[in-house]
Amino acid sequence: MESGRRAQLRDLPSVDKVLNSDAAAELLARFGRAASTVGVRAALTEARAALQAGASTAPSAEYLATLVFSQLDAEDRSRLGPVFNLTGTVLHTNLGRALLAEAAIAAAISAMRDPIALEYDLETGKRGERDEHVEDLLCSLTGAEAATVVNNNAAAVLLALNTFANGRDAIVSRGELIEIGGAFRMPDVMARAGANIVEVGTTNRTHGRDYRAALKPETGVILKVHTSNYRILGFTTEVDAAELAAIAAEAKVPLLNDLGSGTLVDLTRYGLKHEPTVREAVAEGAGLVTFSGDKLLGGPQAGFIVGHRDLIAAINRNPMKRALRVDKVRLAAIEATLKLYRDPDRLAERLPTLRLLARDKADIMAAAGRLLPDVTEILAPHFVVDVCECQSQIGSGAFPLDTTASAGLAISSNTGGAALEHLAKAMRSLSKPVIGRIDDGRLVLDFRCLSDEEEFLSILSALDVRSLA
Ligand SMILES: *Cc1c(COP(=O)(O)O)cnc(C)c1O
Repeated sequence: MESGRRAQLRDLPSVDKVLNSDAAAELLARFGRAASTVGVRAALTEARAALQAGASTAPSAEYLATLVFSQLDAEDRSRLGPVFNLTGTVLHTNLGRALLAEAAIAAAISAMRDPIALEYDLETGKRGERDEHVEDLLCSLTGAEAATVVNNNAAAVLLALNTFANGRDAIVSRGELIEIGGAFRMPDVMARAGANIVEVGTTNRTHGRDYRAALKPETGVILKVHTSNYRILGFTTEVDAAELAAIAAEAKVPLLNDLGSGTLVDLTRYGLKHEPTVREAVAEGAGLVTFSGDKLLGGPQAGFIVGHRDLIAAINRNPMKRALRVDKVRLAAIEATLKLYRDPDRLAERLPTLRLLARDKADIMAAAGRLLPDVTEILAPHFVVDVCECQSQIGSGAFPLDTTASAGLAISSNTGGAALEHLAKAMRSLSKPVIGRIDDGRLVLDFRCLSDEEEFLSILSALDVRSLA
Protein backbone atom coordinates (compact mmCIF):
# COMPACT_ATOMS: atom_id res chain seq x y z
CA MET A 1 0.00 0.00 0.00
CA GLU A 2 2.62 2.43 1.23
CA SER A 3 5.07 1.48 -1.53
CA GLY A 4 2.31 1.68 -4.16
CA ARG A 5 1.61 5.26 -3.15
CA ARG A 6 5.28 6.10 -3.34
CA ALA A 7 5.43 4.65 -6.83
CA GLN A 8 2.48 6.78 -7.94
CA LEU A 9 4.09 9.89 -6.48
CA ARG A 10 7.20 9.03 -8.46
CA ASP A 11 5.01 8.78 -11.59
CA LEU A 12 4.01 12.44 -11.25
CA PRO A 13 5.68 14.36 -14.10
CA SER A 14 8.13 17.17 -13.31
CA VAL A 15 7.29 20.81 -13.98
CA ASP A 16 9.59 20.73 -16.99
CA LYS A 17 8.02 17.60 -18.38
CA VAL A 18 4.58 19.24 -18.26
CA LEU A 19 5.87 22.44 -19.84
CA ASN A 20 7.63 20.48 -22.59
CA SER A 21 4.62 18.33 -23.43
CA ASP A 22 2.82 18.91 -26.73
CA ALA A 23 -0.26 20.08 -24.90
CA ALA A 24 1.73 22.86 -23.20
CA ALA A 25 2.50 24.65 -26.48
CA GLU A 26 -0.87 26.42 -26.43
CA LEU A 27 -0.51 27.14 -22.71
CA LEU A 28 2.89 28.80 -23.15
CA ALA A 29 1.81 30.71 -26.23
CA ARG A 30 -1.18 32.21 -24.51
CA PHE A 31 0.03 32.85 -20.95
CA GLY A 32 3.85 32.91 -21.16
CA ARG A 33 6.42 30.89 -19.24
CA ALA A 34 6.16 32.57 -15.84
CA ALA A 35 2.40 32.24 -15.36
CA SER A 36 2.37 28.75 -16.89
CA THR A 37 5.08 27.56 -14.49
CA VAL A 38 3.18 28.91 -11.47
CA GLY A 39 0.03 27.20 -12.72
CA VAL A 40 1.77 23.86 -13.32
CA ARG A 41 3.41 23.94 -9.88
CA ALA A 42 0.03 24.52 -8.25
CA ALA A 43 -1.55 21.71 -10.28
CA LEU A 44 1.27 19.33 -9.29
CA THR A 45 0.88 20.24 -5.62
CA GLU A 46 -2.80 19.40 -5.88
CA ALA A 47 -2.15 16.15 -7.70
CA ARG A 48 0.38 15.17 -5.02
CA ALA A 49 -2.15 15.89 -2.29
CA ALA A 50 -4.77 13.85 -4.13
CA LEU A 51 -2.45 10.85 -4.36
CA GLN A 52 -1.59 11.11 -0.68
CA ALA A 53 -5.30 11.17 0.06
CA GLY A 54 -5.74 7.92 -1.84
CA ALA A 55 -6.23 8.78 -5.52
CA SER A 56 -5.20 5.80 -7.59
CA THR A 57 -3.30 7.14 -10.61
CA ALA A 58 -0.98 10.06 -11.25
CA PRO A 59 -2.19 12.46 -13.98
CA SER A 60 -0.15 12.66 -17.18
CA ALA A 61 1.89 15.67 -18.30
CA GLU A 62 -0.55 16.21 -21.18
CA TYR A 63 -3.54 16.14 -18.87
CA LEU A 64 -1.93 18.61 -16.46
CA ALA A 65 -1.04 21.03 -19.25
CA THR A 66 -4.64 21.01 -20.48
CA LEU A 67 -5.96 21.40 -16.95
CA VAL A 68 -3.73 24.42 -16.27
CA PHE A 69 -4.78 25.95 -19.58
CA SER A 70 -8.45 25.79 -18.64
CA GLN A 71 -7.74 27.15 -15.15
CA LEU A 72 -5.75 30.11 -16.44
CA ASP A 73 -8.34 30.69 -19.16
CA ALA A 74 -11.15 30.89 -16.58
CA GLU A 75 -9.11 33.27 -14.40
CA ASP A 76 -8.28 35.38 -17.41
CA ARG A 77 -11.89 36.04 -18.32
CA SER A 78 -12.59 39.68 -17.54
CA ARG A 79 -15.15 40.30 -14.87
CA LEU A 80 -15.88 43.55 -16.63
CA GLY A 81 -16.59 41.90 -19.96
CA PRO A 82 -19.90 42.50 -21.71
CA VAL A 83 -23.13 40.85 -20.52
CA PHE A 84 -26.62 40.52 -21.98
CA ASN A 85 -28.88 42.86 -20.02
CA LEU A 86 -32.21 41.03 -20.25
CA THR A 87 -33.38 42.36 -16.88
CA GLY A 88 -35.85 44.75 -18.47
CA THR A 89 -34.17 47.71 -16.75
CA VAL A 90 -32.62 49.87 -19.44
CA LEU A 91 -30.44 52.13 -17.27
CA HIS A 92 -29.36 49.40 -14.87
CA THR A 93 -26.99 50.96 -12.33
CA ASN A 94 -25.41 47.59 -11.48
CA LEU A 95 -24.84 46.86 -15.18
CA GLY A 96 -23.18 50.19 -15.90
CA ARG A 97 -26.18 52.38 -16.87
CA ALA A 98 -26.17 54.06 -20.31
CA LEU A 99 -24.58 52.46 -23.38
CA LEU A 100 -22.64 55.02 -25.34
CA ALA A 101 -23.41 56.23 -28.83
CA GLU A 102 -21.00 55.14 -31.57
CA ALA A 103 -19.79 58.73 -31.94
CA ALA A 104 -18.93 58.84 -28.22
CA ILE A 105 -17.14 55.49 -28.40
CA ALA A 106 -15.05 56.67 -31.36
CA ALA A 107 -14.19 59.93 -29.59
CA ALA A 108 -13.16 58.08 -26.43
CA ILE A 109 -10.95 55.65 -28.36
CA SER A 110 -9.20 58.41 -30.20
CA ALA A 111 -8.62 60.34 -26.95
CA MET A 112 -7.12 57.19 -25.44
CA ARG A 113 -4.77 56.58 -28.33
CA ASP A 114 -3.52 60.08 -29.12
CA PRO A 115 -2.64 63.31 -27.33
CA ILE A 116 -5.54 65.79 -27.33
CA ALA A 117 -5.70 69.53 -26.64
CA LEU A 118 -7.27 68.89 -23.26
CA GLU A 119 -5.98 71.97 -21.48
CA TYR A 120 -4.36 73.66 -24.42
CA ASP A 121 -5.73 76.53 -26.44
CA LEU A 122 -4.95 75.74 -30.06
CA GLU A 123 -5.57 79.34 -31.13
CA THR A 124 -3.16 81.05 -28.75
CA GLY A 125 -0.84 78.13 -28.05
CA LYS A 126 -1.30 78.78 -24.34
CA ARG A 127 -2.82 76.82 -21.49
CA GLY A 128 -6.57 76.25 -21.88
CA GLU A 129 -9.43 75.05 -19.70
CA ARG A 130 -10.40 71.38 -19.71
CA ASP A 131 -14.13 71.99 -19.29
CA GLU A 132 -14.37 74.65 -21.96
CA HIS A 133 -14.92 72.09 -24.71
CA VAL A 134 -18.19 70.96 -23.24
CA GLU A 135 -19.20 74.17 -21.49
CA ASP A 136 -20.35 75.90 -24.67
CA LEU A 137 -22.38 72.86 -25.69
CA LEU A 138 -24.00 72.57 -22.26
CA CYS A 139 -24.88 76.27 -22.27
CA SER A 140 -26.46 76.17 -25.69
CA LEU A 141 -28.43 73.01 -24.86
CA THR A 142 -29.71 74.28 -21.51
CA GLY A 143 -29.84 78.06 -21.77
CA ALA A 144 -27.48 78.38 -18.80
CA GLU A 145 -24.74 81.04 -18.64
CA ALA A 146 -22.00 78.67 -17.54
CA ALA A 147 -21.33 75.01 -16.84
CA THR A 148 -18.82 72.69 -15.28
CA VAL A 149 -18.28 68.92 -15.28
CA VAL A 150 -17.28 66.52 -12.51
CA ASN A 151 -17.05 62.78 -11.86
CA ASN A 152 -20.76 62.10 -11.30
CA ASN A 153 -23.87 63.81 -10.01
CA ALA A 154 -23.07 62.86 -6.42
CA ALA A 155 -19.82 64.80 -6.86
CA ALA A 156 -21.72 67.70 -8.45
CA VAL A 157 -24.04 67.98 -5.43
CA LEU A 158 -21.15 67.57 -2.98
CA LEU A 159 -19.06 70.21 -4.71
CA ALA A 160 -21.89 72.73 -5.07
CA LEU A 161 -22.91 72.32 -1.43
CA ASN A 162 -19.32 72.56 -0.22
CA THR A 163 -18.78 75.72 -2.22
CA PHE A 164 -21.83 77.57 -0.87
CA ALA A 165 -22.78 75.92 2.41
CA ASN A 166 -19.54 74.78 4.07
CA GLY A 167 -20.07 75.84 7.68
CA ARG A 168 -23.38 77.46 6.70
CA ASP A 169 -27.03 76.43 6.57
CA ALA A 170 -28.43 74.38 3.69
CA ILE A 171 -32.22 74.44 3.73
CA VAL A 172 -34.02 71.37 2.41
CA SER A 173 -37.54 69.93 2.60
CA ARG A 174 -38.06 66.84 4.77
CA GLY A 175 -39.83 65.32 1.78
CA GLU A 176 -36.65 65.47 -0.30
CA LEU A 177 -34.04 63.91 2.01
CA ILE A 178 -33.69 60.95 -0.29
CA GLU A 179 -31.55 57.85 -0.47
CA ILE A 180 -30.68 56.87 -4.06
CA GLY A 181 -29.10 53.54 -3.25
CA GLY A 182 -25.45 52.64 -3.37
CA ALA A 183 -24.91 54.79 -0.25
CA PHE A 184 -26.03 58.10 -1.75
CA ARG A 185 -28.08 59.54 1.11
CA MET A 186 -28.71 63.22 0.78
CA PRO A 187 -28.29 64.05 4.51
CA ASP A 188 -24.91 62.25 4.55
CA VAL A 189 -23.70 64.03 1.43
CA MET A 190 -24.80 67.38 2.86
CA ALA A 191 -22.98 66.67 6.12
CA ARG A 192 -19.78 65.66 4.28
CA ALA A 193 -19.99 68.87 2.27
CA GLY A 194 -19.75 70.69 5.61
CA ALA A 195 -23.33 71.99 5.43
CA ASN A 196 -25.49 72.47 8.45
CA ILE A 197 -28.71 70.73 7.38
CA VAL A 198 -31.82 72.76 8.10
CA GLU A 199 -34.87 70.56 7.48
CA VAL A 200 -38.14 72.29 6.77
CA GLY A 201 -41.74 71.15 6.32
CA THR A 202 -42.87 67.58 6.79
CA THR A 203 -42.48 64.36 4.86
CA ASN A 204 -45.57 64.98 2.75
CA ARG A 205 -46.11 68.74 2.87
CA THR A 206 -43.70 71.64 2.66
CA HIS A 207 -44.81 75.25 2.04
CA GLY A 208 -43.09 78.40 0.88
CA ARG A 209 -43.52 79.86 4.37
CA ASP A 210 -41.48 76.95 5.80
CA TYR A 211 -38.47 77.95 3.69
CA ARG A 212 -38.95 81.66 4.46
CA ALA A 213 -39.06 81.01 8.21
CA ALA A 214 -35.78 79.08 8.03
CA LEU A 215 -33.82 81.79 6.21
CA LYS A 216 -31.10 83.37 8.34
CA PRO A 217 -27.92 85.34 7.75
CA GLU A 218 -26.09 81.98 8.00
CA THR A 219 -28.05 80.46 5.12
CA GLY A 220 -25.66 79.36 2.39
CA VAL A 221 -27.98 77.62 -0.03
CA ILE A 222 -31.53 76.39 -0.60
CA LEU A 223 -31.51 72.85 -1.94
CA LYS A 224 -34.23 71.27 -4.04
CA VAL A 225 -33.94 67.56 -4.81
CA HIS A 226 -35.82 65.69 -7.50
CA THR A 227 -37.31 62.72 -5.64
CA SER A 228 -36.10 60.45 -8.42
CA ASN A 229 -36.82 57.02 -7.09
CA TYR A 230 -40.02 57.40 -5.13
CA ARG A 231 -43.26 59.33 -5.09
CA ILE A 232 -45.26 60.74 -2.24
CA LEU A 233 -48.90 60.45 -3.21
CA GLY A 234 -52.07 61.69 -1.57
CA PHE A 235 -52.17 64.72 0.75
CA THR A 236 -49.01 66.41 -0.46
CA THR A 237 -47.60 69.83 -1.24
CA GLU A 238 -44.19 70.83 -2.42
CA VAL A 239 -42.88 74.22 -3.38
CA ASP A 240 -42.12 74.33 -7.07
CA ALA A 241 -38.73 75.41 -8.31
CA ALA A 242 -39.95 78.75 -9.67
CA GLU A 243 -41.40 79.80 -6.31
CA LEU A 244 -38.29 78.58 -4.51
CA ALA A 245 -36.11 80.53 -6.93
CA ALA A 246 -38.05 83.68 -6.01
CA ILE A 247 -37.62 82.98 -2.29
CA ALA A 248 -33.90 82.37 -2.81
CA ALA A 249 -33.47 85.51 -4.89
CA GLU A 250 -35.17 87.61 -2.21
CA ALA A 251 -32.79 86.21 0.39
CA LYS A 252 -29.82 86.54 -2.00
CA VAL A 253 -28.81 82.89 -1.61
CA PRO A 254 -28.40 80.44 -4.48
CA LEU A 255 -31.03 77.81 -5.21
CA LEU A 256 -29.42 74.48 -6.03
CA ASN A 257 -31.79 72.20 -7.94
CA ASP A 258 -30.58 68.58 -8.06
CA LEU A 259 -32.49 67.09 -10.99
CA GLY A 260 -30.93 63.64 -10.65
CA SER A 261 -31.42 62.19 -14.08
CA GLY A 262 -32.55 65.29 -15.88
CA THR A 263 -32.80 65.30 -19.63
CA LEU A 264 -31.80 67.67 -22.37
CA VAL A 265 -34.81 67.05 -24.60
CA ASP A 266 -38.55 66.80 -24.21
CA LEU A 267 -38.96 63.03 -24.03
CA THR A 268 -42.64 63.14 -24.99
CA ARG A 269 -41.49 63.66 -28.56
CA TYR A 270 -40.13 60.10 -28.49
CA GLY A 271 -43.27 58.63 -26.95
CA LEU A 272 -41.94 58.71 -23.39
CA LYS A 273 -43.29 60.41 -20.29
CA HIS A 274 -42.31 63.99 -19.57
CA GLU A 275 -39.24 64.32 -17.34
CA PRO A 276 -38.12 67.80 -16.24
CA THR A 277 -35.58 69.12 -18.73
CA VAL A 278 -32.48 70.97 -17.62
CA ARG A 279 -33.55 73.92 -19.78
CA GLU A 280 -36.84 74.14 -17.85
CA ALA A 281 -35.00 74.01 -14.52
CA VAL A 282 -32.66 76.80 -15.64
CA ALA A 283 -35.59 78.90 -16.88
CA GLU A 284 -37.39 78.46 -13.54
CA GLY A 285 -34.59 80.51 -12.05
CA ALA A 286 -32.40 78.03 -10.17
CA GLY A 287 -28.92 79.50 -9.80
CA LEU A 288 -27.46 76.00 -10.10
CA VAL A 289 -28.83 72.80 -11.63
CA THR A 290 -27.09 69.43 -11.28
CA PHE A 291 -27.69 66.23 -13.27
CA SER A 292 -26.08 62.93 -14.27
CA GLY A 293 -24.27 62.05 -17.49
CA ASP A 294 -25.15 58.35 -17.59
CA LYS A 295 -28.85 58.36 -16.78
CA LEU A 296 -31.41 59.60 -19.32
CA LEU A 297 -28.78 61.76 -20.99
CA GLY A 298 -27.20 58.56 -22.31
CA GLY A 299 -23.53 59.46 -21.96
CA PRO A 300 -20.64 58.28 -19.80
CA GLN A 301 -20.64 58.65 -16.02
CA ALA A 302 -20.41 62.36 -15.25
CA GLY A 303 -22.02 65.08 -13.18
CA PHE A 304 -22.96 68.41 -14.70
CA ILE A 305 -23.48 71.70 -12.91
CA VAL A 306 -25.01 74.48 -14.99
CA GLY A 307 -26.14 77.92 -13.87
CA HIS A 308 -25.15 81.54 -13.22
CA ARG A 309 -21.68 82.55 -14.31
CA ASP A 310 -20.47 83.81 -10.92
CA LEU A 311 -21.74 80.72 -9.10
CA ILE A 312 -20.03 78.35 -11.54
CA ALA A 313 -16.84 80.42 -11.27
CA ALA A 314 -16.92 80.02 -7.47
CA ILE A 315 -17.36 76.26 -7.89
CA ASN A 316 -14.39 76.09 -10.25
CA ARG A 317 -12.25 77.90 -7.67
CA ASN A 318 -13.04 75.30 -4.99
CA PRO A 319 -9.92 73.11 -4.57
CA MET A 320 -12.24 70.09 -4.33
CA LYS A 321 -12.99 70.54 -8.04
CA ARG A 322 -9.58 69.19 -8.92
CA ALA A 323 -10.24 66.01 -6.95
CA LEU A 324 -13.55 65.48 -8.71
CA ARG A 325 -12.60 66.33 -12.27
CA VAL A 326 -13.15 64.14 -15.32
CA ASP A 327 -10.39 62.57 -17.41
CA LYS A 328 -9.78 63.19 -21.12
CA VAL A 329 -11.40 59.94 -22.27
CA ARG A 330 -14.70 60.71 -20.67
CA LEU A 331 -14.59 64.36 -21.66
CA ALA A 332 -14.18 63.33 -25.27
CA ALA A 333 -17.16 60.96 -24.97
CA ILE A 334 -19.23 63.63 -23.22
CA GLU A 335 -18.52 66.16 -25.95
CA ALA A 336 -19.50 63.69 -28.68
CA THR A 337 -22.69 62.72 -26.82
CA LEU A 338 -23.76 66.32 -26.27
CA LYS A 339 -23.19 67.12 -29.93
CA LEU A 340 -25.81 64.53 -30.89
CA TYR A 341 -28.40 66.63 -29.06
CA ARG A 342 -28.00 69.40 -31.63
CA ASP A 343 -29.99 67.20 -34.01
CA PRO A 344 -33.01 65.94 -32.05
CA ASP A 345 -34.57 64.42 -35.21
CA ARG A 346 -31.90 61.76 -35.41
CA LEU A 347 -31.27 61.44 -31.67
CA ALA A 348 -33.35 58.28 -31.20
CA GLU A 349 -31.37 56.52 -33.93
CA ARG A 350 -28.01 57.57 -32.59
CA LEU A 351 -28.35 57.46 -28.83
CA PRO A 352 -28.74 53.87 -27.58
CA THR A 353 -30.50 54.91 -24.35
CA LEU A 354 -33.24 56.67 -26.25
CA ARG A 355 -33.43 54.00 -28.94
CA LEU A 356 -33.89 51.27 -26.32
CA LEU A 357 -36.42 53.24 -24.31
CA ALA A 358 -38.44 54.09 -27.40
CA ARG A 359 -38.32 50.56 -28.90
CA ASP A 360 -41.90 49.45 -29.26
CA LYS A 361 -43.45 46.33 -27.92
CA ALA A 362 -44.41 44.84 -31.30
CA ASP A 363 -40.78 44.89 -32.39
CA ILE A 364 -39.64 43.19 -29.17
CA MET A 365 -42.49 40.67 -29.40
CA ALA A 366 -41.34 39.76 -32.91
CA ALA A 367 -37.84 39.10 -31.58
CA ALA A 368 -39.28 36.87 -28.85
CA GLY A 369 -41.22 34.93 -31.50
CA ARG A 370 -38.11 34.45 -33.61
CA LEU A 371 -36.05 33.23 -30.65
CA LEU A 372 -38.67 30.92 -29.13
CA PRO A 373 -37.99 27.74 -31.18
CA ASP A 374 -34.22 27.74 -30.69
CA VAL A 375 -34.34 28.67 -27.01
CA THR A 376 -36.97 25.95 -26.45
CA GLU A 377 -34.70 23.42 -28.07
CA ILE A 378 -31.64 24.48 -26.07
CA LEU A 379 -33.54 24.24 -22.78
CA ALA A 380 -35.57 21.07 -23.45
CA PRO A 381 -36.73 18.84 -21.91
CA HIS A 382 -36.59 20.13 -18.33
CA PHE A 383 -37.58 23.71 -18.97
CA VAL A 384 -40.63 25.10 -20.71
CA VAL A 385 -40.32 28.33 -22.66
CA ASP A 386 -43.15 30.71 -23.60
CA VAL A 387 -43.34 34.11 -25.21
CA CYS A 388 -44.47 36.57 -22.54
CA GLU A 389 -45.50 40.17 -22.20
CA CYS A 390 -43.63 42.07 -19.51
CA GLN A 391 -42.87 45.56 -18.31
CA SER A 392 -39.50 47.26 -18.76
CA GLN A 393 -38.26 49.85 -16.33
CA ILE A 394 -36.25 52.90 -17.21
CA GLY A 395 -34.01 52.54 -14.18
CA SER A 396 -31.58 54.82 -12.35
CA GLY A 397 -34.45 56.38 -10.48
CA ALA A 398 -36.12 57.93 -13.51
CA PHE A 399 -39.93 57.54 -13.55
CA PRO A 400 -40.06 55.11 -10.60
CA LEU A 401 -43.73 54.26 -11.08
CA ASP A 402 -43.81 54.11 -14.84
CA THR A 403 -42.99 51.02 -16.79
CA THR A 404 -43.09 50.50 -20.50
CA ALA A 405 -44.70 47.54 -22.24
CA SER A 406 -42.20 44.98 -23.43
CA ALA A 407 -41.90 41.31 -24.31
CA GLY A 408 -39.58 38.38 -23.97
CA LEU A 409 -39.41 34.73 -23.02
CA ALA A 410 -40.57 33.24 -19.72
CA ILE A 411 -38.85 30.02 -18.69
CA SER A 412 -40.34 27.67 -16.15
CA SER A 413 -39.02 24.42 -14.77
CA ASN A 414 -40.66 21.00 -14.80
CA THR A 415 -38.81 20.01 -11.69
CA GLY A 416 -39.26 22.92 -9.32
CA GLY A 417 -37.85 26.27 -8.24
CA ALA A 418 -34.28 25.19 -7.46
CA ALA A 419 -33.73 24.15 -11.08
CA LEU A 420 -34.69 27.65 -12.18
CA GLU A 421 -32.13 29.18 -9.81
CA HIS A 422 -29.52 26.79 -11.19
CA LEU A 423 -30.44 27.77 -14.73
CA ALA A 424 -30.19 31.48 -13.89
CA LYS A 425 -26.76 30.84 -12.38
CA ALA A 426 -25.60 28.78 -15.38
CA MET A 427 -26.72 31.62 -17.67
CA ARG A 428 -24.68 34.06 -15.60
CA SER A 429 -21.63 31.78 -16.04
CA LEU A 430 -21.75 31.74 -19.85
CA SER A 431 -18.84 33.26 -21.76
CA LYS A 432 -21.04 36.34 -22.20
CA PRO A 433 -23.27 36.20 -19.13
CA VAL A 434 -27.04 36.34 -19.69
CA ILE A 435 -28.83 38.24 -16.93
CA GLY A 436 -32.60 37.92 -16.65
CA ARG A 437 -34.89 38.23 -13.66
CA ILE A 438 -36.86 35.68 -11.69
CA ASP A 439 -40.45 36.75 -11.40
CA ASP A 440 -43.32 34.73 -10.01
CA GLY A 441 -41.62 31.35 -10.39
CA ARG A 442 -40.40 32.03 -13.93
CA LEU A 443 -37.10 33.23 -15.32
CA VAL A 444 -38.04 36.18 -17.53
CA LEU A 445 -35.73 37.36 -20.32
CA ASP A 446 -36.89 40.83 -21.44
CA PHE A 447 -35.60 41.41 -24.97
CA ARG A 448 -35.89 45.21 -25.01
CA CYS A 449 -32.09 45.57 -24.74
CA LEU A 450 -31.16 42.60 -26.94
CA SER A 451 -29.64 43.72 -30.20
CA ASP A 452 -27.76 40.71 -31.56
CA GLU A 453 -30.12 37.72 -31.59
CA GLU A 454 -27.68 35.42 -33.38
CA GLU A 455 -24.91 36.06 -30.89
CA PHE A 456 -27.37 35.45 -28.05
CA LEU A 457 -28.35 32.03 -29.44
CA SER A 458 -24.78 31.00 -30.08
CA ILE A 459 -23.76 31.91 -26.49
CA LEU A 460 -26.85 30.25 -25.01
CA SER A 461 -26.28 27.02 -26.92
CA ALA A 462 -23.21 26.36 -24.72
CA LEU A 463 -25.58 25.66 -21.79
CA ASP A 464 -25.43 22.13 -20.44
CA VAL A 465 -29.06 21.80 -19.45
CA ARG A 466 -28.95 18.14 -18.38
CA SER A 467 -26.71 19.02 -15.45
CA LEU A 468 -29.26 21.54 -14.13
CA ALA A 469 -32.55 19.75 -13.70
C1 LIG B 1 -28.96 59.54 -9.37
C2 LIG B 1 -29.08 60.74 -8.51
C3 LIG B 1 -27.96 61.29 -7.88
C4 LIG B 1 -26.59 60.67 -8.00
O1 LIG B 1 -26.14 60.75 -9.32
P1 LIG B 1 -24.87 59.89 -9.81
O2 LIG B 1 -24.60 60.37 -11.18
O3 LIG B 1 -25.30 58.46 -9.74
O4 LIG B 1 -23.76 60.17 -8.86
C5 LIG B 1 -28.13 62.41 -7.11
N1 LIG B 1 -29.35 62.98 -6.95
C6 LIG B 1 -30.46 62.47 -7.54
C7 LIG B 1 -31.76 63.15 -7.32
C8 LIG B 1 -30.36 61.33 -8.35
O5 LIG B 1 -31.44 60.82 -8.94
